[in-house]
Amino acid sequence: MKSDIEIARSVELKKIKEVAQSIGMPYEEIENYGRYIAKVPEDLLDEEKLKKSKLILVTAITATKAGIGKTTVSIGLALGLNKIGKKAIVALREPSLGPCFGMKGGAAGGGYAQVLPMEKINLHFTGDFHAITSAHNMIAALLDNYLYQNQSKGFGLKEILWRRVIDVNDRSLRSIVVGLGPKSNGITQESGFDITPASEIMAILCLSKDNVDLRRRIENILLGFTYDDKPFTVKDLGVAGAITVLLKDAIHPNLVQTTENTPAFVHGGPFANIAHGCNSILATKMAMTYGDYVVTEAGFGADLGAEKFYNIKCRKSGLQPCLTVIVATAQGLKMHGGVSLDRIAEPNMEGLSEGLRNLDKHIRNLRSFGQTVIVAFNRFATDTDEEMELLREHCAELGVGFTINSAFAEGGEGAVDMARLVVDTIEKQPSKPLHFTYKEEDSVQQKIEKVASQIYGASVITYSSIARNRIKLIEKMGITHYPICIAKTQYSFSADPKIYGAVDNFEFHIKDIVINNGAEMIVAIAGEILRMPGLPKDPQALHIDIVDGEIEGLS
Ligand code: ADP
Ligand code: MG
Repeated sequence: MKSDIEIARSVELKKIKEVAQSIGMPYEEIENYGRYIAKVPEDLLDEEKLKKSKLILVTAITATKAGIGKTTVSIGLALGLNKIGKKAIVALREPSLGPCFGMKGGAAGGGYAQVLPMEKINLHFTGDFHAITSAHNMIAALLDNYLYQNQSKGFGLKEILWRRVIDVNDRSLRSIVVGLGPKSNGITQESGFDITPASEIMAILCLSKDNVDLRRRIENILLGFTYDDKPFTVKDLGVAGAITVLLKDAIHPNLVQTTENTPAFVHGGPFANIAHGCNSILATKMAMTYGDYVVTEAGFGADLGAEKFYNIKCRKSGLQPCLTVIVATAQGLKMHGGVSLDRIAEPNMEGLSEGLRNLDKHIRNLRSFGQTVIVAFNRFATDTDEEMELLREHCAELGVGFTINSAFAEGGEGAVDMARLVVDTIEKQPSKPLHFTYKEEDSVQQKIEKVASQIYGASVITYSSIARNRIKLIEKMGITHYPICIAKTQYSFSADPKIYGAVDNFEFHIKDIVINNGAEMIVAIAGEILRMPGLPKDPQALHIDIVDGEIEGLS
């Protein structure tokens, strides 16, 4: 089979104007970024129209290093729906440059189910990530300058919470000292860099209703605490307006197309552990304004991404998914069934059967939200009929719809069965209104405990003294009504990345709590969470090149 980039290059792209026209969008109002990309202004969103659209969430079993294929299946499903005559749009996150050149490669789908132009989407795209990076670091510089300029008045912060961001995997920037040298170089202090998808500005952009809401949220960002324990925010710095200006274009959803020229929105890209892991609310709503079916993806496994999609994104936006599709792969299930990584491509019915417990636990969780669930088997070339049959029978026993997705190898044609099952299930048995895991008025501990015990399966939840002190501060600040965003490993239901499968009855320890006062969520950190990934021994960058003007090695 051809490589992703070869397939991408073989597609004849439509002008973005035609793509917009195909869904009845007033194309003269969109803002072109070249021939194949456009930004769609927020006033084209119609809250009334979008109520008629059917939202479908694509999530997955617990992640493996191999990748489960949520993005590829999401795009495939939109292709399949269009193939059977439905007006369907996919709404995805923007890839981050760091992982593109590091371990993961591109994140614009794969095979015959991609969003295009993939080189641009995977690289600088419409500059949204750069704008977010600039806005974030502008605040850091303005804060440092404020501290420097006001030190003679005795003003200082007891604790500075705001770090810096860059969209590059650079482990040596995790922990740094700034302001070395003469006094005019600023105040010497510790700082560090996170990757751009971990920026609070990214989460804010994805949760904002419009420019006014964006500005309000930026104003509320908590930068640190004064010596008398008062919160110090961007409002105190007086620069919310300037920072909003930097994000004026970035907030507009990006319109692109799939390998079969159907419309796709790719906008925003927060991490699914330390942030909520979904594309922007604006892009999802824009897609729903113009599509009868909208397929969207939430990051990592269903315990992280889907939980946050419902409890944070849907709660805040009023969105109600009609159906949740959970993606499973034979290789992923075998890994959860105890098969070693180097053998998961070989047939192993026992391992597969054992791994089903991971799938079952996710399905139970998704159903606890009132969601109707179907299982999409993402087919790899090595999968056997016997393996697929086992999964089909298992889903029949659970009373869950089952479908095989071959969109990676065949495009929309390979997703027709999946599309039919999706349409049929939504018609006959749509999801109930969302039942959230916790209420807004629950205490911070209650919220954490409900997610950790009901979704992850923890039996004991413990807190460090740092976390307990933060909770007291949150109570003092009067923001206990914010949703919680638990940051833990994507490789396990627990906080230990080495425990695969469907672990239960474990102790769950909250190490730290981060207050995202602008994004309006409380991030509870469990286990070791890297906000700045490193590069592997054999980074993808070693395989990326440009030959005769064409990019190679972006997978
Ligand atoms: P996720 O969104 O779950 O992280 P992706 O859709 O990005 O996963 O897929 C992860 C990787 O696996 C990508 O490189 C993609 O091209 C590849 N992939 C996905 N589905 C298949 C498949 N059916 N066969 C082969 N490779 C696949
Ligand atoms: Mg993905």
